[in-house]
Amino acid sequence: MPSINASIITIGDELLIGQTIDTNSAFIAKKLNEIGIWLRRRLAVGDLKNEIIAALEEESRNAGIVIITGGLGPTADDITKPVLCEYFGSTLVRHKETETFINEIFTRLGRPVGERNLKQADLPDNCQVLFNKRGTAPGMWFEKNGVICISLPGVPHEMKGIMEDEVLPRLKKLQGLPVILHRTLLTAGAGESVIADKLESFESILPSHIKLAYLPSYGQVKLRLTSQGSSAQALEPELDDLFDKLKTEVAEWLVIDDDLPMEKVIMEVLSAKGATLATAESCTGGYISHLITSMPGSSKIFKGSVVAYANDVKSSVLQVDKNTLDKYGAVSEQTVKEMLQGVIQNLSADYGIATSGIMGPDGGSPEKPVGTVWVAVGNIESMEAKKFHYRFDRQRNIELTALGALDFLRRFILKKDQDSH
Ligand code: ATP
Ligand code: MG
Repeated sequence: MPSINASIITIGDELLIGQTIDTNSAFIAKKLNEIGIWLRRRLAVGDLKNEIIAALEEESRNAGIVIITGGLGPTADDITKPVLCEYFGSTLVRHKETETFINEIFTRLGRPVGERNLKQADLPDNCQVLFNKRGTAPGMWFEKNGVICISLPGVPHEMKGIMEDEVLPRLKKLQGLPVILHRTLLTAGAGESVIADKLESFESILPSHIKLAYLPSYGQVKLRLTSQGSSAQALEPELDDLFDKLKTEVAEWLVIDDDLPMEKVIMEVLSAKGATLATAESCTGGYISHLITSMPGSSKIFKGSVVAYANDVKSSVLQVDKNTLDKYGAVSEQTVKEMLQGVIQNLSADYGIATSGIMGPDGGSPEKPVGTVWVAVGNIESMEAKKFHYRFDRQRNIELTALGALDFLRRFILKKDQDSH
C-alpha cells in the first residue's frame, strides 16, 4: 500500500538546552498517526539559519510532508519566516485578513498595535496562509518539488489550534492515505509483563496488518489494537472480533473497553447511579481529589475531601478514635475504616475512599516498611479495606496509591451490583 511519510522539525534553542520540553512533536506525531501518515523522523534544531535550511533540505529529500514548529514570533530570535522565504524563494507581502485580525485583537485588548505586531501579517507570497484564531502568527503551507512543508507557531496552544482547524482537514484529503482504526481498553491491577504472558497466544494469531500496543502508566496498562488497510468496512468486523477476544483474555483486569482514564470511569460509574463520592486522604494529600476534580462535570459526583494528614485532624475532623490510633497506628486497617466512616458521614456522601500510608523516603519500620498503604472504600452500609505495598519513590507511590484506590472502589461497586442481582 502506498504510504505518505512525514518529518517534524522543532525549532528553538530552548528545546536543545532542555529548558522547554518538546511536546509539539508528540502531539503532531499522534495526530498524523491517527490519519495514517507515518512519521519517519523528529528532530530539534536551534535558532540558526544554516541549521534550519540543512534540516529542511534533508527531510524534504526523504519525506512527503515536513512540519516545522517555532520561531514565528515578532522578536529578533524568531528567524523561521525569513529563512523559509529564502528557502522557498518568496517575497513577503502584507496579508490583509491577517492584518485585520491582528488589529481586531489589539482593539479588543485596548492596546495600540505596533509595527512589530503588524509585521506578523507580512507573509510569503507563495504559501497558503493557515489562519491562527488563537494568536497573531498564522501558519504557512508551502509546496516544493512535490513535498508539502508546513510551518506552525511554537506556542503549543496556537500550534494545536492550527493543526486541528487547518492542517488536518487538508491532509486528510491527500490521496493514498491508508485507513487506520484503533480499539483501546484500560486494565488495572496487573503489570504489562503479566498481561503479555497471558496474551502470548492471542498475539500469535494476529494478522500482520493488526498490531497490539501496550501503553503502561501508573498502576494501569492500556491495550490498543490498530488495524491498517484500505477500507473501513473491510477492517471493522475483523478488528471488533479480535477486540472482543482481547477483552475476554484480560477480563480479570479490564476496567473499560474505551480510551478513558480511571478517574473518568469512576465518575461515570457514580453518575450512572446518581451517587456521590468523598475522600479522606492522608498519604495521598488530596491527589485523588485532584484527579477527580480535573475532569469537567465532576461536581455532579464529588462532594469534597478531608486531607487528614496529622493524627489530630484524623480524630478531630474525621472522628477517628484516639485509642484506635494509639493501638493500631495511623497506617492500619482500623484507622482507614474509621476515616472512611467519618468522611462519608461528615460530607454526606454515598461512597468514600480513605487512604493512609508511608510514602517514603523515611518513616518506615520493619512491620510497616516504606510503601505500606491501607485503603478503605465503601458506603454507609459496608466497607472493605486492603493493604497495598508500593516500592517506588514518594511521587510514584502517591500516584499508584490513588490509582489503586480508585480501582478498588470500582471493584467494590461492581461486586455489590453483581451481588444484588
Ligand atoms: P511567538 O509568536 O509566541 O514568539 P513562536 O512561533 O515564535 O511564537 P517560539 O518563540 O519558538 O514560537 O516559542 C513560543 C513558546 O512556545 C515558548 O514558550 C516555547 O518554549 C514554546 N515552544 C516552542 N516550541 C515548542 C515545542 N516544540 N514544544 C513545546 N513548547 C514549545
Ligand atoms: Mg517566539
